[in-house]
Amino acid sequence: MEFKSIAIDGPAGAGKSTLARQLAEKLGFIYVDTGAIYRTVALAVLRAEMDPKDAGQVAGLLGGLDIRMDYGPDGEQRMFLNGEDVSGAIREHQVSGLASQVSAIPAVRDFLLDFQRRQAREHSVVMDGRDIGTVVLPEADVKIFLTAAPEARAKRRLLELQQRGQQADYEAVLRDIIQRDEQDANRPIAPLRQAEDARLLDTTRLNLEQSLEALVRLVKEKIEL
Ligand code: C5P
Repeated sequence: MEFKSIAIDGPAGAGKSTLARQLAEKLGFIYVDTGAIYRTVALAVLRAEMDPKDAGQVAGLLGGLDIRMDYGPDGEQRMFLNGEDVSGAIREHQVSGLASQVSAIPAVRDFLLDFQRRQAREHSVVMDGRDIGTVVLPEADVKIFLTAAPEARAKRRLLELQQRGQQADYEAVLRDIIQRDEQDANRPIAPLRQAEDARLLDTTRLNLEQSLEALVRLVKEKIEL
């Protein structure tokens, strides 16, 4: 059986995970949230009380990590670090910034590359991240670059944090988003950028339903559903 792959890249808060999850559900593909995998490494670094910028130290930690991914009965992707379900812990605000720092370390990206590719070898996937169309799955059947203005993304992220009962303030969230964009776009290895053959989808003025419709339209241009 031949598996299909859909790569969705873009900056934080563009709606990638919500849209990718809904698209996967619609198509019967699995949804792979690669940010969650980087977050799991970041959590391990945090717990080891390491400096996330110390590439040598972080690289040394990787060999001893047991990172696994699974799907709960609700179909949600769950992450396990050394046997512990850390799906909630990796969503903490502090882990977002750390994930962006550790993901700039080449050894971390190398370590996770095969992990991500394996998912696409074994299933039809909708995979979202920063470098899926450019590095992880350059042969993906469909590539989408999903973006929105930073202000729109900050508003959505704020709402999401509030819904999770976390306190946050708009200016701080916006600052964080801009800083993370900069870090992700300017790192020398696998920077965030649109693949040449990716279609751009800007959701600044679209609500979720409209965004999903636009996304499905783009996918249908490339693969038969
Ligand atoms: O998507 P999410 O916000 O969960 O990702 C957390 C961080 O992980 C991002 O800011 C980015 O630095 C990193 N990341 C990455 N490559 C991916 C997915 C995430 O570098 N494919």
